[in-house]
Amino acid sequence: MPVADKIQTFIDRSSWIRKMFEEGARLREIHGPENVFDFTLGNPTVEPPPAFHRRLRELAANPEPGMHRYMSNAGYDETRAAVAARLSRESGLTVTGDQVIMTCGAGGALNVVLKTLLNPGDEVIILTPYFVEYKFYIDNHGGCAKEVPTGTDFQLDLAAIEAALGPKTAAIIVNSPNNPTGVVYPAEDLRRLNALLQQHEKKTGRAVVVISDEPYARIAYDGIRVPSVFSCIDNAVIVTSHSKDLALPGERIGFLAASPKMADCEAFMAGAVFCNRVLGFVNAPALAQRLVAGLQEESVPITPYQQKRDLLYERLTGLGFRMVKPGGAFYLFPQSPIEDDVEFVRRAQARNILLVPGSGFGAPGYFRIAYCIDLEVIERSLPAWEQLAADFNL
Ligand code: PLP
Repeated sequence: MPVADKIQTFIDRSSWIRKMFEEGARLREIHGPENVFDFTLGNPTVEPPPAFHRRLRELAANPEPGMHRYMSNAGYDETRAAVAARLSRESGLTVTGDQVIMTCGAGGALNVVLKTLLNPGDEVIILTPYFVEYKFYIDNHGGCAKEVPTGTDFQLDLAAIEAALGPKTAAIIVNSPNNPTGVVYPAEDLRRLNALLQQHEKKTGRAVVVISDEPYARIAYDGIRVPSVFSCIDNAVIVTSHSKDLALPGERIGFLAASPKMADCEAFMAGAVFCNRVLGFVNAPALAQRLVAGLQEESVPITPYQQKRDLLYERLTGLGFRMVKPGGAFYLFPQSPIEDDVEFVRRAQARNILLVPGSGFGAPGYFRIAYCIDLEVIERSLPAWEQLAADFNL
């Protein structure tokens, strides 16, 4: 067998993703791509900001000798310093370049952090609904994912987290603004989580690391400011990328940063630099590092995302779909009108609407809409949503 049993099981369990892709391709062929409304992928159709293209042209016009060579595994000092300056400003702490490692996206950063932290059998708490890759990443490094439900409106349920903490808990992954729900966790709740983990450490002697996965940190609406995790939680590591805020998912550029308040921060960073190397990333892409060094204060415009959220939220709730109004990211996570969310997604396909069932995020009974697509596609999809609502007598 060229595929390990475990990997085959993972593939089989997530085969609905492949089936959805195949179904999408089939529908496009029959009805034409303009009549199929694909809300499945978090792959933004917006372009990077003009400052990105300016910087790209400058770099191409003035190539410097050595600019494509290997560098220190942690990345260019200049880029790490630029990231550290931004984190210092946001958190009010003094973050230095030594606490930052440039990575191949947030996905790369998560793998580096988990490999650095986990002993075999260690547990990592993930909150349902969760980003689908967490379980696979935790498994990559010999850990066990422990699923903990979120509370009202998908906010942190601190009592449930407390009940899940144990001697094997090494870390908890929090993701705000969240994929798939779009909710933002308020600073008070993050501070309460910090107090809870401090108490746990006092009792058990084990410091649990909060891994803050925050690629959507700059995509927030209605004047909401996403709290700086470093200012609320001591034992925290940020993992993030420019996949969403600069619309560069294909360039694989992100970073991890350890809080200056983290216990044994220096040892953790040395471990993470080593893991960045031996996971085969070696270092984050050189060109992308040079580009983002000067773009730490830039982001794609947020207003068009908010317009799309508002349009879909207003129209779909008007049709009878029930959902939490998200404060950020570019996802809606409504309740499925029938218990079987996979069946609901199939019925949506019959109306040429492509969605992801909540079961894929550990939350059956819901479905995810990714609205990082063109506004005109969303507008064209509205009659199909009306038909879908009528199919379920909403
Ligand atoms: N974490 C979350 C919550 C995501 O939604 C994504 C991508 O969609 C990632 C991590 C990985 O992003 P990247 O492209 O930076 O690896």
